[in-house]
Amino acid sequence: MKVDLALKNCRIWHKKRLKRADLVIDKGKITSITKSRLPPSKKMIDSKNRIILPGLIDVHVHFREPGLTHKEDWSTGSRAAAKGGITYVMEMPNTIPPTLTLRDLFDKKALAKKSVVNFGLYAGISQKNLNDLKELTKQAIAFKLFMGKSTGDMALDDISLLLKAFTNVAKTGKVLCVHAENEKMNKHFYKNYKKETDPIAFARARPPESEVLAINDAIELAKQTNVKLHICHLTTKDGLTLIKKAKKNKVDVTCETSPNYLFMTEDDLREKRTLVKMNPPPRTGRDQKALWKGIKTGKIDILASDHAPHTLHEKYQNIWFAPSGVPSVETSLQLMLNAVNKRMIKLEKVVELMHDNPVKRFELDNYGDIEIGNDANLTIIDLKKKWEISREDLVTKCGWSPYEGWEGKGMPVMTIVNGNIKYNQL
Ligand SMILES: [Zn+2]
Repeated sequence: MKVDLALKNCRIWHKKRLKRADLVIDKGKITSITKSRLPPSKKMIDSKNRIILPGLIDVHVHFREPGLTHKEDWSTGSRAAAKGGITYVMEMPNTIPPTLTLRDLFDKKALAKKSVVNFGLYAGISQKNLNDLKELTKQAIAFKLFMGKSTGDMALDDISLLLKAFTNVAKTGKVLCVHAENEKMNKHFYKNYKKETDPIAFARARPPESEVLAINDAIELAKQTNVKLHICHLTTKDGLTLIKKAKKNKVDVTCETSPNYLFMTEDDLREKRTLVKMNPPPRTGRDQKALWKGIKTGKIDILASDHAPHTLHEKYQNIWFAPSGVPSVETSLQLMLNAVNKRMIKLEKVVELMHDNPVKRFELDNYGDIEIGNDANLTIIDLKKKWEISREDLVTKCGWSPYEGWEGKGMPVMTIVNGNIKYNQL
């Protein structure tokens, strides 16, 4: 009997070290990690000493289906993820309809059957489902709460409703992921700035203080309710300071940032205008520096793309009408690997941020770990491969990237999901 797949000449990421060995995959599982002779296989691949990482995870993507499939769908979004070296995505609930009920979760799961990567679904929280959260855990991987408005209209900004939401999520034992911006502060500043046409007015209308205020509220509510709190797409130095302090005081809080905030600032908003309009907006160099320090020191737990595609047609409107969000699931890892080559961060940290910590926080059960008996979910990278991001190469349905023209070194070259090769440029 032949095994399904053998990968020879691998450098395998195993217990935080690189180990030379060959890898055997059969019926979706890793069946052998060996230095001796390989068994006969249906397919043999020479990985040419490329690095085999555990299957990377993106805990924050918007694949837009149902309801917004002109921007993205489960087929295009998941293929973009596979191209970006991502084997597992956690998908956000602000679709149309929003994912608020068990029925919505089942419906989305049926649509997601065409996904080429593994996935988990978030359940959203609104006034309508506050009392039904427990039953949603049958299908939802975690909960998402918008403290400030973003794409869709799911914001919950009344403190008594928030308290109820935190309390009820705490009872489920699942993680509560929060979009932390203070809705009332944003409303106030929108009024002040809405006559201005300069794109930077958008950043002023959603100021850093709005995020800091919301993080502060979320942490206080977490203290009271003991919920497992996760702050999405952190952008500010002062927000990070609050999270660090809360962690020290044993509050169960983690946070993520997006490469979008590591690689772009207000200057990009000035230059690329609505193309880099996102919620929260890109910040200053001061914040960017603090985020880099945060990921290097482990104070920021997770890197997630916040892949939020919109068409160019939608983006080419004035700064107030254009929707917020940028596509980034297929470019995040290569940007980070380029940073590894530039010695801005160690590969070990990237694996922690995009695999180890997501597994731990969302209790994904050793997902992706390269061990015998585990499902074969693998991200194979070539640290020496040069790249230039160009529109023609993109897989996302929206068909553009804020990083077009960027050049670098180090990219994913093969993505294996449940033993099947879903992307191959080895
Ligand atoms: Zn998002």
